[in-house]
Order: sequence, then C-alpha cells, then structure tokens
Amino acid sequence: MENFVFQNATKLLFGSGQEKDTGSETAALGKKALLHYGGGSIKTTGLYDRVKASLEEAGVEVVELGGVKPNPLISLVREGIELCRTENVDVILAVGGGSVIDSAKAIAAGVYHDGDAWDFFTGKAEVTKTLPIGVVLTIPAAGSETSAGSVVTNEEGEYKRAFGHESLRPKFAILNPELTYTLPSYQTACGITDMSAHIFERYFTNSTHVDVTDRLCEGTLRSIIRHAHTVLDEPENYDARAEILYAGTIAHNDTLGVGRIGDWGSHDIEHEVSGIYDIAHGAGLAIIFPAWMKYVYKHDVERFAQFANRVWDIEIDLNDLEGTALAGIEQVENFFDSIGMPTRLSDVDIDDTHFEKMAAKAVENGPVGQFVKLEKEDVKRIYELAQ
Ligand code: NAP
Ligand code: FE
Repeated sequence: MENFVFQNATKLLFGSGQEKDTGSETAALGKKALLHYGGGSIKTTGLYDRVKASLEEAGVEVVELGGVKPNPLISLVREGIELCRTENVDVILAVGGGSVIDSAKAIAAGVYHDGDAWDFFTGKAEVTKTLPIGVVLTIPAAGSETSAGSVVTNEEGEYKRAFGHESLRPKFAILNPELTYTLPSYQTACGITDMSAHIFERYFTNSTHVDVTDRLCEGTLRSIIRHAHTVLDEPENYDARAEILYAGTIAHNDTLGVGRIGDWGSHDIEHEVSGIYDIAHGAGLAIIFPAWMKYVYKHDVERFAQFANRVWDIEIDLNDLEGTALAGIEQVENFFDSIGMPTRLSDVDIDDTHFEKMAAKAVENGPVGQFVKLEKEDVKRIYELAQ
C-alpha cells in the first residue's frame, strides 16, 4: 500500500427533500451567491424555484448564470469570473451535474487569478485562493460534487483539460435521489458508465497489497451493476436511485483510491474524443474503456482475472487465465451495451479522420496512464481497437 493523506471535507446532505436546506447551507458560506446552472432542466423540474425560494428565505442575495453546456466551455467560465467580480459574489452555488460543478470550480479559482482562467488547465498558473462552492446535484455521474477536479473545454483548439486543487472540493453537496427521477435514460446510463470508469481507473494499478480498496472497488461496482437496470426500468425507484447516487459519489471521493496509484489513461484518451466531437463523457468512456482493457490486460493478467471473477462472477480458469481476463472485459462491453451505451466509435459516427491528431494531443504533456504508460502510437491503437 502506498502512503496517503486522505481528507474529504465535503458535507453531504443525502435524501428526500434535503434541498430545502440549500439556503441555510449557502448562507453559512457567503452573503451573495452566483447561482450557476445548465441548459434549463432545473427550470422544467421546478428545482430552480425551490432553490431560489430557499436562498431568499435564508437572506442570500442571488446573481444568476445559466447556460452551462455538457462539456462546459471556458468562454462561460470567463463570463462567470467577470460577473463574480463586478457583483462581489462571495459564494457559488452549482445546481446541476458535473458540467455545472466543473464550470463553478473554474470560476471559483479564476476570480482570484490575474491572468486567463485557462492558465490553470495548462499548468501555467497555480490556484491560490478560491470562492467556496455549494452543490445541489441532479445527476450521479462525474463525482465532481466531492472531487477536487474540474474538466473544461477550450473551444478555440478543441482542448478538453483538467485541473484540481483541494480548496475546490465543494463545501456541501445536497444529494436527493428524487432529483434524478427526471433524467433521460441515456443520461442515467452515461452517469453509470462514468462512475464505473472512475472505479476502473483506480482498480487497475501496479500498487500491491491493496486488498481493502480492491474489495471496496469490487463491491461498489457490483452494486452499480445490480441497480443499473432497475433505475433504467423504473426511473422513480427511490431505493435504486439512492444506491446509484451514492455510488457515483463514493466512486470519486477517493475512498476507493487511497493507498494505490490510479491509471486515468482512459479519461485522458476519452477527453480527446469528447473535446472534438462533443459527445457525452460517459458515452466516450463506454467506447474507450473496453478498448483500453483489451490493449493493456497482458500487463497484469492476474489482476484482470481477479476483476472478472470478483466483479462478474466468472470462474477463474487456472489453465487459461488470459481467457478469464478476456471474459471479464467482454462482460464490461456487454454491460455498457445492455444499458444503451455505444461501445464503438462507429456507433457515434466517429471515423479515423482525427485519430492521429487526437493521439498527438493526448500525449502532448507526456505519456498517459500509470498502469501502462501509453505513448502516441499506443493511444492511436486504442482508438483503432475502439472503431
Ligand atoms: P452534465 O454534463 O452535467 O449533464 C448532462 C445532461 O443531463 C445535461 O444536458 C443536463 O441538462 C441533463 N440533466 C442533468 N440533471 C438532470 C435531471 N435531473 N433531469 C433532466 N436532465 C438532467 O453530466 P455529468 O455527466 O454530470 O458531467 C459531465 C462532465 O463532467 C464532463 O465534462 C466530464 O468530463 C466531467 N467530469 C468531471 C469530473 C470531475 O471530477 N470534475 C470527473 C469526471 C467527469 P441541463 O443542462 O438542462 O441541466
Ligand atoms: Fe469521468
């Protein structure tokens, strides 16, 4: 097990009706809030009105910035920074999913940075100070509600990049399973894929003696797989929605990742796809992850056989460990397919036109991944395997 420091200070308010406390939780962080949200789902569901009423009741002044797109854009982040400065905003309330929360994080750091907010994503600037962030989550997926990271797209150059800082972990996150009832099944499935991918990224490691976190990863994955079809078949099944909602948070708050070095190559490889083609991050991962697994499994066949056995109940064949490993990978692909995800680039009409460019961009700052370090040609092979 690797040495580690673990601190996750996000206060979770989980369960039915918890958004009623949005105002009081926000008021504890500041007097004037930037209410940040996406393309309007919170207005059609009525959440917007409830959140506004709660803020008003708590005496919090509100400035609004909606319009965050899935795969959030740096241009809106810049707008948000200007707004926070001119309006003297002292807290940001993100109501939505990973895209809204990530946009809020970039604004929260950008307010105190003299240069352009994109500098954080290129490593040109370090985060110094940030505005506090609160979250009302509407989609279990990215895990950004407790993570320190933010992923934003720069539309000039089609770059999708990440940065992170401990101070960007939201101070509170409200998680009400009922708020996820209105999710279209495709978005539900994208979320299930992303949270599964966050566990895969941690599970495939070269760190040894990591049994506790192996078992936590396997158990959480089994629970996601068990409840995935229920939430798709019965969108208003509170208990199943609650399991998936908490799984999405636990998958990315690092409880499952401590003491081990994660991989994250598939996320980097996927970001080049959703950066250029603007497909949902979860859908991109459903395509890239099985291809990545097929490309790297020989690096540690035992670990892949363990994954097949403990997550997918495939019996280990000691005479054919490779067969066991491959059967597990096939199950991953079948699972994504069964929840309505694309599993090939051709399923989302992406051909090989940009493989060369995407592979070059993925390794711009050096090889990607830790389990196996991948160079440009490896990344290109993975895109080819995903065709
Ligand atoms: P999202 O992009 O925030 O939202 C996806 C779609 O779902 C939007 O169209 C949104 O509509 C809709 N939606 C959300 N909640 C809804 C609800 N309750 N009812 C109906 N529609 C709803 O999804 P996400 O998967 O959470 O975030 C994806 C982003 O997170 C990607 O850019 C990805 O790269 C990033 N990510 C970040 C981290 C991290 O740690 N920071 C980790 C992994 C991924 P509206 O816009 O109308 O609300
Ligand atoms: Fe992700």
